[in-house]
Amino acid sequence: MQLNEMYDVIIVGAGPSGGMAGWKLAEKGIKILIIEKRKKIGEPVQCAEGLSLFALKENDIKPEKDFIVREMKGAKLFTSSGYFMMFPVPGYIIKRNIFDQYLAEKAREKGGEIRTSERVISITKRQNYFEVTSDKGKYYAKYIILACGPYEGIKGINFPKTRKIVAIEFRFKSNKIDDNYFHFHFGDEFKPFYGWVFFHGDVTGIGAGLYGRGNNLKPIEFLCKKYGFKINKRIKKIAGKIPFSKFPFPEDPEGIIRVGDAIGAVHPYTAGGIHGALSTAKIAAQIIIKNFEKSKINKTYYEEIKKLPIFKDSLWNKQDKLFKKTSKEWDEIGRLMHKRVYSKTPWGRAIFYLFLHPFSTFNLLFFLNLQKEFKLSENFSY
Ligand SMILES: Cc1cc2nc3c(=O)[nH]c(=O)nc-3n(C[C@H](O)[C@H](O)[C@H](O)COP(=O)(O)OP(=O)(O)OC[C@H]3O[C@@H](n4cnc5c(N)ncnc54)[C@H](O)[C@@H]3O)c2cc1C
Repeated sequence: MQLNEMYDVIIVGAGPSGGMAGWKLAEKGIKILIIEKRKKIGEPVQCAEGLSLFALKENDIKPEKDFIVREMKGAKLFTSSGYFMMFPVPGYIIKRNIFDQYLAEKAREKGGEIRTSERVISITKRQNYFEVTSDKGKYYAKYIILACGPYEGIKGINFPKTRKIVAIEFRFKSNKIDDNYFHFHFGDEFKPFYGWVFFHGDVTGIGAGLYGRGNNLKPIEFLCKKYGFKINKRIKKIAGKIPFSKFPFPEDPEGIIRVGDAIGAVHPYTAGGIHGALSTAKIAAQIIIKNFEKSKINKTYYEEIKKLPIFKDSLWNKQDKLFKKTSKEWDEIGRLMHKRVYSKTPWGRAIFYLFLHPFSTFNLLFFLNLQKEFKLSENFSY
């Protein structure tokens, strides 16, 4: 092995998690290499491009005008009959390609090395270091950060089967309908996930999530009709997989750490994953910096990320129930909460409502329980 090929940390992938980990390590003088298979970082975009203000704040990222498209006041959750409740969680529509490039550039500015158009093929544990083989060469490092998203295919790494949703979004040239809230639609038309409408200004994104093959466009067709778009007039299609995973995390060889989508760090209800990618990457970097001369870091890392709200068991336990709710059940909740902030239950009205509709009791109790989970993970929702 040549000395110049030995790195402290090799990061596989230059999405938000890879860029963030690289930045935080490089700024502390750690010698890093990011290997990214794409020719241009962040492209093509596979994201609806919603990001919360809190995600940036928590990770000390300034909302630069280069990657901010517009400010958003929060989200509205719509039910089939058009009722909606509000989630006042401020955020942004971002330019995801520029955002990913911005983070990678920060890593480079701090002395990190980045190789694009290069795919990592295998990772092998040698005595006290790792050998990373790409389609262009061999590199060596003390630690590995897997920031390669949910896709399998690196020899030597076991990617356990996780639940993945196929997310598809069509972009349209905007019409008159506009809102500075993200729109989410729940109900029969969108099972087993939800549908969304994001207003970027000049374009509007309409999307939905599906299990299995991504050929069921009915939820998107439904929303196109509702918002006045013709599906065949789309100007762009965006698609990708979103992995959901919860504790326990996969067992990797000591010294290999997974971040972002590679560990399914997405919110179980909204599937927003940029925030989880940034936070897990930051924690990974902090733990490597702190324990640089020590050998056992995996356990400490998992203990730390388990504290993130997105990995909380109670949140996960309600995920299926949330997505299985029927239009009728969502309408029951929507009728009570219409135009209100999700956490502000109108108690007087609720009692009167339950008196008139006693069969709704269980459904409303479920919603009250859900409020707690939303509250707990509110800032992490996207
Ligand atoms: C359609 C869609 C819409 C979404 N919308 C939102 C949203 O609005 N808000 C939100 O918060 N989240 C959204 N997400 C989720 C979000 O995009 C992901 O959670 C986020 O990208 C995870 O970041 P990451 O860095 O972990 O992985 P990625 O962004 O997937 O980055 C992984 C990188 O690793 C590279 N790579 C993979 N394998 C190798 C290899 N062997 N060698 C070298 N490089 C490799 C890839 O090319 C890629 O650049 C959406 C996802 C999809 C699919």
